[in-house]
Amino acid sequence: MPFPQERPRRMRRTEALRSLVRETVLAPDDLVWPLFAVPGKKVRNAVRSMPGVFQLSVDELVAEAQAGYEAGVRSVILFGVPEHKDELGTGAYDDDGIIPRAIRALKEQVPGLVVMTDVCMCEYTDHGHCGVLKPARVGAPGSDLVVDNDATLALLAREAVAHAKAGADVIAPSDMMDGRVAAIRRALDEQRFDDVPILSYAAKFAGAFYGPFRDAAESAPREGAGIPKDRKGYQMDPANWREALREVALDVAEGADMVMVKPAVPYLDIVRLVRDRFELPVAAYHVSGEYAMIKAAAQAGWIDEERVVLETLLCCRRAGADLVLTYYAKDAAGLLTGKRR
Ligand SMILES: [Zn+2]
Repeated sequence: MPFPQERPRRMRRTEALRSLVRETVLAPDDLVWPLFAVPGKKVRNAVRSMPGVFQLSVDELVAEAQAGYEAGVRSVILFGVPEHKDELGTGAYDDDGIIPRAIRALKEQVPGLVVMTDVCMCEYTDHGHCGVLKPARVGAPGSDLVVDNDATLALLAREAVAHAKAGADVIAPSDMMDGRVAAIRRALDEQRFDDVPILSYAAKFAGAFYGPFRDAAESAPREGAGIPKDRKGYQMDPANWREALREVALDVAEGADMVMVKPAVPYLDIVRLVRDRFELPVAAYHVSGEYAMIKAAAQAGWIDEERVVLETLLCCRRAGADLVLTYYAKDAAGLLTGKRR
């Protein structure tokens, strides 16, 4: 066929034609900005492995969220580093803990902002696991302790209620315990927070892309006698897509309002599968390791950071993510609206 009848190129000739037929749009209000709250005042601790990301005291966090809001970022998700850590992660469900304090300040000073909160135990436990530990009857080789799924549920529920009381708009459990969405939903409803939605980290894969986050949240599992050395006992195996769909189906059945796939880019096939099988809004978390790789290549002068960032986030949307959690949220919003600081 020497002269093809169909020429998709015809619609690529000018930017106006291209934008006319563009299938996916990336907008600042699709983005959710993860922020790390630490105790103190005027604290801005640079996270070594994530250039441009800081641990922020509540006053600084409010200023940062305000700047993001002005750039077009309408949602943040908060992670907390508490004053002290202990075996039971009591800082996680303290009504005056770091996250409730941050929520109250944000709701007061940036009223239009959607404040999501990560609900997990790993930032608050001294051993760094996402739940409380108990002696293993059957454990992984070398660990005498395992995460106690059912005992953890009650603590996660208390944490979610503490966040809702402080004014959180969305509760986002990331622990990967079985049954946690139902436990949190029940606890929120009992306390008459039935209007507070749950964004569940439904398919969260255990892997190497979270390394920089653990610097930022100070949540790496501690090395110690009997303590499981990683999270593979409760987070998902990167090899499994059918299991991811099962995890999502469970969270939907338990009452999740939105579901998340984490990490994003290496797992966009999962995002697409979830998008095709479920009607709920889908989130993709462009995680710390993904951020750090772009930053490092950009700092070496090997890629055009701005273009790579926008393309990456657009591709998350094209794969089916309604919202994208990214450390690039403010910068990307600035690029999209032309209002860079
Ligand atoms: Zn955790």
